[in-house]
Amino acid sequence: MYSPISEIDVDGRRFYVKRDDLIDLFLAGNKYRKLYTLLQTPSNKFDTIISYGGTQSNAMLAIAAMCKDKSWKFVYYTKPLSETLKNEDCGNFYHAKNLGMHHVEIELECYRDFITSLRFNLDEKTFIIDQGGAVLEAKKGLEVLAQEIRSSSLHVKSLATPSGTGTTALYLALSLPEYRVYTTPCIGDVSYLREQMQALSKIPENLVILKPQKKYHFAKPYKEFLDIQQKLLASGVEFDLIYAPGMWRAILEQTD
Ligand SMILES: *Cc1c(COP(=O)(O)O)cnc(C)c1O
Repeated sequence: MYSPISEIDVDGRRFYVKRDDLIDLFLAGNKYRKLYTLLQTPSNKFDTIISYGGTQSNAMLAIAAMCKDKSWKFVYYTKPLSETLKNEDCGNFYHAKNLGMHHVEIELECYRDFITSLRFNLDEKTFIIDQGGAVLEAKKGLEVLAQEIRSSSLHVKSLATPSGTGTTALYLALSLPEYRVYTTPCIGDVSYLREQMQALSKIPENLVILKPQKKYHFAKPYKEFLDIQQKLLASGVEFDLIYAPGMWRAILEQTD
């Protein structure tokens, strides 16, 4: 699956956009890359995939789509959900349920201990994917993306991708030492992001973490995020409202 590249002009600057969003309706973007190794795994290797985390997460939806395709049972643990979200007939949670996801709510008081306990007594047919798809197995898929970027032979020296867990930016930078890779934290601050990355590997020198000029709370709607998203939409590409605007803001303000 070789994703296309779009060219857009933003504030008088030319950018290339690697369109991983076009790979599939549900199993797309960096989540497709992060699940690459599992997607290559023969279906009979596992019968159950377990994961946990946010109730509107893109990782959850991508895993649900993968499990449907592989005929794996998918069990997803979250903190208790609001009635509103449970009854919605749109969004990632709704679609993931439609794809066959088994959703289990864990009481707040037990959540942390419960997630830790998932690793005990695992049988060899069950695989756990950590929150946001932050797995070592993500490395291979990002190497494939790196190879696609390299072979597109665009005359660019820098790449940018926003960070949640930092898995994508980290493995991309490790796979493309000849490029500078910019990222910015969309969850927590720079030191939290560095910690997350260091749990996976030493941070390479070509990875540049831009500090947001303002503190944003994850997934909270901000007027300036909508403004950037609308400007990008007018340039021809629809970006997400949660991660992309912070990255674009940092790129436009802090780089030339
Ligand atoms: C998951 C996700 C991210 C964050 O990726 P990490 O590898 O966790 O840093 C960024 N943007 C979008 C749209 C995502 O779905």
